[in-house]
Amino acid sequence: MKKLLIIILAFYLNAANLHFTLYKKNGEQGNTLLVIGGIHGNEPGGYYAPSFLIRYYDINKGSLWIVPNLNFDSIVKFRRGVYGDMNRKFAFIDKKDKDYNIVEDIKKIILNPKIDMVLNLHDGHGFYRNSWQNSIFNPAAWGQTCIIDQEKIKTNKFGNLGDIARKVSSCLNTDLKKNYHFFNVKNTKTKFKDEQMRLSLTYFAITHGKPAFAIETSKNIKDLPTKIYYQLRAIEEFMKIVGIKYTRNFDLTIPEIKKLLKKEDYVIINGNTILPVKNIDKVINFFPLTSKQITFKSSNPLVAVVKEKNYYVLYEGYNRHAVLYPQYFKNFCKIKKIKIEIDGQKKEITVPSIVKVDKYFKVLSDKRINVIGYSSKQNEAYKKITKDKLIKKYAVDKNHKMFRVEIYDKDSFCGMFLVDFGGKK
Ligand SMILES: [Zn+2]
Repeated sequence: MKKLLIIILAFYLNAANLHFTLYKKNGEQGNTLLVIGGIHGNEPGGYYAPSFLIRYYDINKGSLWIVPNLNFDSIVKFRRGVYGDMNRKFAFIDKKDKDYNIVEDIKKIILNPKIDMVLNLHDGHGFYRNSWQNSIFNPAAWGQTCIIDQEKIKTNKFGNLGDIARKVSSCLNTDLKKNYHFFNVKNTKTKFKDEQMRLSLTYFAITHGKPAFAIETSKNIKDLPTKIYYQLRAIEEFMKIVGIKYTRNFDLTIPEIKKLLKKEDYVIINGNTILPVKNIDKVINFFPLTSKQITFKSSNPLVAVVKEKNYYVLYEGYNRHAVLYPQYFKNFCKIKKIKIEIDGQKKEITVPSIVKVDKYFKVLSDKRINVIGYSSKQNEAYKKITKDKLIKKYAVDKNHKMFRVEIYDKDSFCGMFLVDFGGKK
């Protein structure tokens, strides 16, 4: 028994903390494009662009499979690879490597017979040029390129890698934000010339009969919306080539991308609590948790809640938004709905959720209610609570307008909702 325990623990310690997610968007029958983002955690163009595909695109014909967060542990730390370079682990990977499960799982997806083409997204150094100009513009740079490992592969479909990459690059070059952003095709001639690239994801794909490309925007373009813009335009061209028909729910312009990046997100933790992500206060104390292992869900695929030391950190991409100090409860109860009165109207609300309140709210329940920031030593059910009775510093948001309402049954934690005094919409 002891031995088994040690083995399980060793296995657990050897796995990455956060695993990637695969999102599938299907239209009418057609070809399938697999888009992989975030293999390198310090290349945000490569993972924010796929998060836009997930959130703001609909697929009408063909299928788009999206992994926005392949190397999620490295994304939250904004590092190329916290366990070494993941893009050098596709020819061989040791079972003890922390990236092992992730690399093996993405290989299976790449080899899925449904996949007709693979894109791997990056932000590379500098700006690739055919001849040497300086340390930023030169043949060794990677930025602003469609990368191919060789000119052609033998497959039924899309084997003419060079032609496809040149077509995409020339489309991108019809609308550049700066002239020096122009795209080139970089053929790494991997089989004969590039020993390192033989270990990469795209080389794994092409040697298994799957057409694959890397799209590289530039690390030297510092503006994230600009990188996302180029990545999305490239992906849209690839979608056209494989016959995927899509609708995009926003204008593909840099101001529009900027606006969407600022949009508020929410995260649901353990299915019973909810928090804002971007506008959250930096520190949340006594956050109710029922176990050290947590689950979380957000409409933003780059949101993660990570245990670090004796607290949890709420991330959105590489942005560290808040630290949650937990209060653990041994017992928990489940509640899906609860009755409340808001500004004179009685209604039943979902737990967890966020409810807009103008003047006051009152929880109509026989459960024990604790409104965080409302100072009373008793059960706070059936109390009429206005904003002026709530202490600002207990708010969960930076504007001090959102407060936690926690629901208990004796000593068991049942769930939480937020009241938002931030103005009715
Ligand atoms: Zn990269």
